Amino acid sequence: MATAISPNESKTMIQQTRLLIGNRWVDSVSGKKFDTINPATGDVLAQVAEADAADVDLAVKAARKAFHSKSPWRRMSASERGKLIGRLADLMERHADDLATLESLDNGKPRHVALTADIPLSIACYRYYAGWADKIQGKTIPIEGDYFCYTRHEPVGVVGQIIPWNFPLLMQAWKMGPALAAGNTIILKAAEQTPLTALRVGELILEAGFPEGVVNILAGYGPTAGQALARHMDVDKIAFTGSTEVGHLIMQASAETNLKRVTLELGGKSPNIVFADADMEQAVEGSHFALFFNQGQCCCAGSRVYVEEKIYDEFVERSVDRAKRRTVGDPLDDATEQGPQVDDAQFDKVMSYVDAGKREGANLRCGGERVGDRGYFVAPTVFADVHDDMKIAQEEIFGPVMSILKFKDDDELIERANKTMYGLAAAVWTRDISRAHQIANNVRAGTVWVNCYDVFDAAAPFGGFKQSGIGREKGEYGLQQYCEIKTVMVKL
Ligand code: NAP
Ligand code: MG
Repeated sequence: MATAISPNESKTMIQQTRLLIGNRWVDSVSGKKFDTINPATGDVLAQVAEADAADVDLAVKAARKAFHSKSPWRRMSASERGKLIGRLADLMERHADDLATLESLDNGKPRHVALTADIPLSIACYRYYAGWADKIQGKTIPIEGDYFCYTRHEPVGVVGQIIPWNFPLLMQAWKMGPALAAGNTIILKAAEQTPLTALRVGELILEAGFPEGVVNILAGYGPTAGQALARHMDVDKIAFTGSTEVGHLIMQASAETNLKRVTLELGGKSPNIVFADADMEQAVEGSHFALFFNQGQCCCAGSRVYVEEKIYDEFVERSVDRAKRRTVGDPLDDATEQGPQVDDAQFDKVMSYVDAGKREGANLRCGGERVGDRGYFVAPTVFADVHDDMKIAQEEIFGPVMSILKFKDDDELIERANKTMYGLAAAVWTRDISRAHQIANNVRAGTVWVNCYDVFDAAAPFGGFKQSGIGREKGEYGLQQYCEIKTVMVKL
């Protein structure tokens, strides 16, 4: 499966492979570098400076200095802060084509999807929070006695942000937008699989004119750079998106060090519920999108499709037909719906779940094999006759593997839908409005979509119940996670 861009073209696209610390591009202290690969071909795209504990320390020092009460960033007016964030959004818009190509090369997602989803959503997120910068305000509170009491919403301080590889630009925006609006300073660690666009945005941050040390960007591995950030005594908060397993480690690191604030956006195994009265065409296409979007690499993927008994067989037939028609191939081709998985480890993990599904007696209706002979492409896969206790119905697969389960009535359904450690998202497809609201009320999940899926807006909060996370991102709720509330009392 050839990629329609030459190695030379991709080299010129990659302008930055070093670390951004204190507004300077630097090599890592150790001098070490690591390869980032193109998952469509398996070829090395670039070698990137590998941050370690020593680099984390330098970045934290730069961020702490930038947070000093007399620093240009802290003395800057709130509206100026908003303008800077807006300028970053404008620059991203100007470079949208290059950013989309780079995101596609490093992550494997179709370029046209990056251009129509990841990039505009990222820009919208920065613009949304640019608007918030000068609207972050406390209250005056009428307390007993002769006192004047008011609150200030202050920045938390130096924040570490650790992002995953599935939506590199968007996760950077969800994290940096609110942190900057509230006046924090940042050390962002990009995922080792996809460091290139985060670094490219670093260049735009310098071009926008952010003061020295406000945003520091590191590439490096989780157990070294990520852990050093999570354990650092001078980091006030960690915001993390990734696996639930690492979420536990982040929490533990905070507990064992300085009780830094922790917000987590973790995994999911989201129920996508289809009733017999749903618009069949809409439900089939919507459920296909809910699972297969982004090569199935979505924390909120609709990965447990519960279908009412009466329409089960028809729904399965139509879903299999749709999955077979899904175009898999070169991410730079506009006709491609599905690119490769992000790396060989994710490819192997997805294939091991396909094996588990077969072993446990689920009915493999299509896919289940590699596509092509290089890169990490997986054929769109559908399992029917899946039961709640099967591994593929319990664990996060993070790949293009749909599991379709059957249900009889609403009562058993809610219990089954909630029987998981996760609680990130859910969806329901029905024409019955009261049933839709009943499900929305009773399902234990941070987001519920009704007759739609994966609708995201910078203003609408996102996050998980249970082991899907702590705190919310986006919207006003997301902003609150980057503020400390200070109470001031004045004797009159
Ligand atoms: P992961 O290990 O949780 O990685 C997410 C981020 O955390 C990356 O930046 C990673 O660095 C970093 N990290 C890893 N170990 C760390 C540690 N001990 N301390 C601090 N930071 C650490 O996820 P993954 O290995 O890429 O993917 C594994 C599974 O996680 C997937 O199959 C999927 O189920 C889930 N996942 C969920 C999301 C989501 O959006 N919720 C996103 C990605 C993956 P490196 O870049 O070095 O790994
Ligand atoms: Mg890569």
